[in-house]
Amino acid sequence: MDFEEIKKEIEAFVKEELFSLEPWILNIEWEKKLPKLNELREKVKSKGLWLPQISKEYGGLGLTNAEHGEVSEILGASPYGHYCFNCQAPDAGNMEILIEFGTDEQKEIYLYPLLKGEIRSCFAMTEPDHAGSNPIKMGTIASKENGNYVIKGHKWFTSGFDGASFAIVMLVSDPNGSDPHKKASQVIVPTSSQGLEFVRNISIMGHPGGGWESHAEIKFHDVKVPLTNVLGADGEGFTIAQKRLGPGRIHHCMRWIGMCERAFDLMCERAVSREISEGVMLGEKQTIQNWISECRAEINASRLLVQDAANKIDTLGAYKTRSEISIIKFYCAQVLQKVVDCAIQVHGAKGVTDDTILASYYRHERAARIYDGADEVHKSRLARSILKKYKLDYK
Ligand SMILES: Cc1cc2nc3c(=O)[nH]c(=O)nc-3n(C[C@H](O)[C@H](O)[C@H](O)COP(=O)(O)OP(=O)(O)OC[C@H]3O[C@@H](n4cnc5c(N)ncnc54)[C@H](O)[C@@H]3O)c2cc1C
Repeated sequence: MDFEEIKKEIEAFVKEELFSLEPWILNIEWEKKLPKLNELREKVKSKGLWLPQISKEYGGLGLTNAEHGEVSEILGASPYGHYCFNCQAPDAGNMEILIEFGTDEQKEIYLYPLLKGEIRSCFAMTEPDHAGSNPIKMGTIASKENGNYVIKGHKWFTSGFDGASFAIVMLVSDPNGSDPHKKASQVIVPTSSQGLEFVRNISIMGHPGGGWESHAEIKFHDVKVPLTNVLGADGEGFTIAQKRLGPGRIHHCMRWIGMCERAFDLMCERAVSREISEGVMLGEKQTIQNWISECRAEINASRLLVQDAANKIDTLGAYKTRSEISIIKFYCAQVLQKVVDCAIQVHGAKGVTDDTILASYYRHERAARIYDGADEVHKSRLARSILKKYKLDYK
């Protein structure tokens, strides 16, 4: 199958198999939708479309970041697109770092079952008592005793913890180290570990969460795991975290563009079909036309920005593409909020019902401006890197 055929197949799958499940699938508990999702995952495997983002060596389609971006846009139109193809956050990021940094033993126990879709995983970095925007100040500490890490700490917003088999935990493993960027490690912790307390699934925008759709609060009470559970080497936590975020942001931004396109279609369909006064359609009003034009321009601009960042990651690597990654993260998240908001407004009361996908997008994706780095953090990082160049030029 060439890339164009892959995209066509994926698009047909999303429209025929996933859109047809709405709104049923959007408003029921995780356990009730899981059998259907498992059946769909088997279908994806049988069509040879499983793991689009993973190299062929590890059983995937071997797409580049730019190609996977295009696929992410198609999958993003459904909240379950990525899940059905096993390229959903946070598992996709965990697969990536296990492939790059995992030992043979770690790959055997954690990576291969994850690639097959037999287990799920999660990533625990953010803490209730410390600003997630500055993870250097984490309070989860691991001491080293008799060949083990002994972990104490408190995390929240560990997405997908409920039902996951393991967590990759970002923690401080060298609290007295002089270099703040070398104090942290990423350590694999099985969720069945003694002393790992599942406090709750945090309810978000009225959604109680469950399974892969959960965001958990967890506590570590002297949780012991062997030192061999570290990813890469002790002290490399931040280096590994940098690696995981580039491709992940391409995936999220293109997923949002997929949502924008669907919301945009709904908005335009409503504009041409809703009669606002005798013989006058909503789409004839200039305010609505302004929204349609602005949204079209901003969605197109978003896609071009993400494609540019994805091409640069493919050629230069994620580290040298940090500025472009910051740009797409805050820009696309804001475009998503605007497009969904305009589409809701054009629908009037219907826009806030669960009769269309719009309310679900609105509830779930307000968080887009916060997770993977809040808008303000990305803007500040970008501006600093720009101003640094000016200072250097004047020297
Ligand atoms: C739906 C969702 C899923 C998530 N999933 C995960 C997950 O799986 N694993 C995980 O570890 N974390 C996860 N997170 C957490 C997320 O990464 C953090 O919320 C994010 O990093 C911000 O940290 P914080 O919430 O502690 O906000 P804080 O760091 O307290 O920041 C609060 C606000 O302050 C402002 N701010 C912060 N720094 C600056 C600055 N330098 N300049 C100007 N303004 C600033 C921003 O407006 C920011 O929104 C998730 C969050 C959400 C909402």
